[in-house]
Amino acid sequence: MDRVAPSHLPLLDQWILERLHAVVGECRKAYEQYEFRKVFNAVNQFCATDLSAIYVDATKDRMYCDAKNSVRRRASQTAMHDVFSALAKLLAPILAYTADEAWEHAAFTAGSVHEQDFPEPDPLFASGEATAKVNRLLEIRRSVQTAIEERIQAKEFTKNNEASVTLVVPEKEAVYDLLRDRQFATEFFIIADLDVSAGPALSAKAAKTGHAMCPRCRRYEPLGLGGVCGRCESVVQPLSRI
Ligand SMILES: [Zn+2]
Repeated sequence: MDRVAPSHLPLLDQWILERLHAVVGECRKAYEQYEFRKVFNAVNQFCATDLSAIYVDATKDRMYCDAKNSVRRRASQTAMHDVFSALAKLLAPILAYTADEAWEHAAFTAGSVHEQDFPEPDPLFASGEATAKVNRLLEIRRSVQTAIEERIQAKEFTKNNEASVTLVVPEKEAVYDLLRDRQFATEFFIIADLDVSAGPALSAKAAKTGHAMCPRCRRYEPLGLGGVCGRCESVVQPLSRI
């Protein structure tokens, strides 16, 4: 695997590694006090919410559809490599066989997981900077989601990624620039388009996108002459020349 340096990781990948940093710290402390339930709760919460409901959901498109060597795709591989390695080690005393089988199955590991030391919290991910931004984005996501679900209930469209969202955020919003970044915003909210502006208070409206579905990645995007979206065209074209 071709790792991406921590300073070059996109926000979501920095965030999941900051969360992992916190979970590793919590689990080490809980193990020292023989509080196994606390370990289980911390890992369970991390897997169900941070990883499954947010990180993997948003980044699976780049894993499936970006070019093999795209920085975003390699960033996710970097993060998931570290997440897997830390979780297998943290779970080894509790889920002895499962952790060992997972460790054996991974291509980059050697020996038994039970011969490994616990992971150490990584100081590179101790700042909490990405976490502060993502926490604010998750607050905004709740408004976006409510607006989308209203339209889905009204049968205007059926899936999140068909939504074109008009968002108003308060003046001097800390994550304004991130919201203006179309690639980031459509990935984070899993939507077709985001039109953001500053106003008196946070509010969101959703409507069905005017874009057609890209047949390769199934996202609703402006399609080029090749019949696929710009990202997919840039991935497929070099392949067709081979
Ligand atoms: Zn596409």
